[in-house]
Amino acid sequence: MPVVRSIAKMQHLSRRLTAQGKRIGLVPTMGYLHGGHLALIRRAKRNADVVVTTIFVNPKQFAPGEDFERYPRDERGDLRKIAGAGGDIVFIPRAEEMYPDGFQTYVGVEQLTNVLEGSVRPGHFKGVTTVVAKLFNIVRPDVVVFGMKDFQQAVVLRRMTRDLGYPIRYMVAPTVRERDGLAMSSRNAYLNPVARREALCLYYALRTAKAMVRTRVMDVHKIEREMRGVILSTCPTAKIDYIAFTDLSTLTPRRKIAGDVVASLAVRVHGVRLIDNMRLA
Ligand code: AMP
Repeated sequence: MPVVRSIAKMQHLSRRLTAQGKRIGLVPTMGYLHGGHLALIRRAKRNADVVVTTIFVNPKQFAPGEDFERYPRDERGDLRKIAGAGGDIVFIPRAEEMYPDGFQTYVGVEQLTNVLEGSVRPGHFKGVTTVVAKLFNIVRPDVVVFGMKDFQQAVVLRRMTRDLGYPIRYMVAPTVRERDGLAMSSRNAYLNPVARREALCLYYALRTAKAMVRTRVMDVHKIEREMRGVILSTCPTAKIDYIAFTDLSTLTPRRKIAGDVVASLAVRVHGVRLIDNMRLA
């Protein structure tokens, strides 16, 4: 399986594949791959001839004091997993080449990035949209697959793809969970055994919300109160960054459950910041 580390080589390879009539699928990741990433690769493979997986821990999407330096990395393990999932090419660009000296050009999406994660992590989405626009320009994919796990990111990048007119089929794959319900995430590696158990508070809270909606409780304040209770009874030291109820595609806040509403939340469990979400209706 070819591993490409230079931008020029990746561009060249993509052009050649396209000239041969091959449809290119792209799966951008930050590595330390798990079953969620592999589901995206398999999905891309079903919708393209050649799948390019990228591994890049993007410094521009981490604020000072976040976990950029200690973000888990395992290139050898990742390459094995990508090959096992049917990936064809891996692109691992160098930060110095992605962001050369004097770099000062950014891509930004406006309103959609002011809420949820954007309100707690200023600058985060500017880093995400900039790196993904660069990856689109380098790889020139026909199809791209992102995960619903990062729900707001999927919405923001869909907007960017449309607004900038990239001719790319945009796909969002469902969240893959561990057997007990915890959403798979590279950051789960930070959880010690107690924190791993208590990390289920996010999933339990979302399940509670869904169950309430099934019994026709439609008032988000009531639902949020129950969710807070579930989180703190599962993980008494949890710090809740936010619990939000928003429209699936516009991210506008909802006061009542009606139409496509997504509950999303960010919680610090023993100091590890986790996010998750679920469609309620
Ligand atoms: P990351 O490596 O965390 O930047 O994630 C790369 C891609 O994998 C993003 O599109 C994520 O939304 C997606 N992803 C991460 N975790 C999961 C999961 N548990 N299920 C499905 N997709 C995921």
